[in-house]
Amino acid sequence: MKKIIIIGSGPAGYPAAIKLKQSGADVKIIESNTFGGTCLNRGCIPSKAILEIAHRYHSIKEISDFFDPEPHIKPKWEKIKEHKTKVVEGIRTSLEKFFSMKKIEIIRGKAKLSSNKTVEVESGGAKSSYEFDKLIIATGTKPFYPKPFDSYKDFLTDSDKIFDIENHPKRLTIIGAGVIGIEMACFFNAIGTEVAVIDIMSEILPFEDQSITKVLKNSLEKRGVKFYLGVKTSDIKIKDGEKTLILENGTEINSNEIMVAAGRTADLKELNLEAAGVKYSKFIEVNSALETSNPDIYAIGDVNGISLLAHSASKQAEIVSENIMKETKEEFDKNIVPNCIYSFPEIASIGLNPKTAKEKGINTKTKKSFFQVLGKAVATKQTEGFIQIITDESDTVIGAQIVGGPATEIIHTIALSVKFKMKTKDLNSIIYAHPTMSEIIAEALNK
Ligand SMILES: Cc1cc2nc3c(=O)[nH]c(=O)nc-3n(C[C@H](O)[C@H](O)[C@H](O)COP(=O)(O)OP(=O)(O)OC[C@H]3O[C@@H](n4cnc5c(N)ncnc54)[C@H](O)[C@@H]3O)c2cc1C
Repeated sequence: MKKIIIIGSGPAGYPAAIKLKQSGADVKIIESNTFGGTCLNRGCIPSKAILEIAHRYHSIKEISDFFDPEPHIKPKWEKIKEHKTKVVEGIRTSLEKFFSMKKIEIIRGKAKLSSNKTVEVESGGAKSSYEFDKLIIATGTKPFYPKPFDSYKDFLTDSDKIFDIENHPKRLTIIGAGVIGIEMACFFNAIGTEVAVIDIMSEILPFEDQSITKVLKNSLEKRGVKFYLGVKTSDIKIKDGEKTLILENGTEINSNEIMVAAGRTADLKELNLEAAGVKYSKFIEVNSALETSNPDIYAIGDVNGISLLAHSASKQAEIVSENIMKETKEEFDKNIVPNCIYSFPEIASIGLNPKTAKEKGINTKTKKSFFQVLGKAVATKQTEGFIQIITDESDTVIGAQIVGGPATEIIHTIALSVKFKMKTKDLNSIIYAHPTMSEIIAEALNK
């Protein structure tokens, strides 16, 4: 029986453990923190739990004049936190029960490599050693603090701490206009916090198509979010609970909380990767079959830096489990990963956009339609935004970008066509139910 050790129980580690156990391997999974990783405890799940509350709160306000008396409601921070904790703990308990039912051993403690065949785990001062035939490193990432924020770490908040801050902040400054920063800006703005977002880059979400992100930025600005883009921070002043961010151009921004959302970093030094000859720089180096420089060791999920998303992590877990059990070399295809941003309005994209296609020397055609032409969008007050479907010259679908509506759901129809290299006529041959927001695909293709 193959002896497999997995370090890390996030969306990379735990699906690999389940799959490998189902395939008959002897599996042990090591976790130093709460089971379920960043995604369940400090990432996707808590953020979506609170974003949904903000979304529904916003919807109630939007239709309040249909009621007599008009509902006058305001958010309760303690209750929001309680809900988030209940959701996270509920899922974690189910997951741990499932592992116990399937008899998959969970080892609690901090793991590091001690040779190219052994892992050492330290827990409460005690050390144990475990041998492996194959090792999967799935240790994820943690919030990154660039200068000068690293010197003020204890006084600032980040995505590990924001869901548990004591009070509902009146004013919040977010450093970083990436996915986490923007989602948190949407949430806090919706529950009445004054939000400022600062970024050294001149655009928000710079890896997304700018025609899409422009819609979101305008929408957030209309709702009162202030953006300071293309600027550097020179210092921070903290006095009597007031936190002031000083920008290089002299602007001072006061707030109750400063959240650092300036990217994520992998903690690789502590894994002692040298003991097994595993090469790394910022992330662990892997080939397209997710093998490290040591052929018995794989690195999956955030820790390899290919795509810092939970669904990429889980797909990589599936691929590596198959590769280990069947001795194959299936590869992970980054091009078919949907990128979803749970902002208001939502953003979702897949494959190439006009700019990235051009960089690859591909001539493109763009088919575009706006949500406002759909009956469902008008009836449900979701008219903001549009879709653009990108094809090559032979009409093969190579990508799409959506802003508005349930973009993060609609994207999957396009994902199928990108994955199977479908032509626009194939994508248009299915019947889109009426009235739905997915009709936007047919609207775009029929133009
Ligand atoms: C606020 C926020 C919102 C997010 N929202 C989304 C979203 O909506 N959709 C999405 O796809 N992604 C989202 N992400 C990203 C997603 O959480 C990560 O991509 C995903 O968790 C990566 O999974 P992973 O298994 O590689 O690592 P992690 O989930 O980080 O898990 C790694 C685990 O390894 C453990 N570990 C580390 N070192 C050791 C060691 N030496 N010994 C033992 N255990 C160790 C850690 O404690 C951790 O539990 C979000 C992230 C954040 C922070």
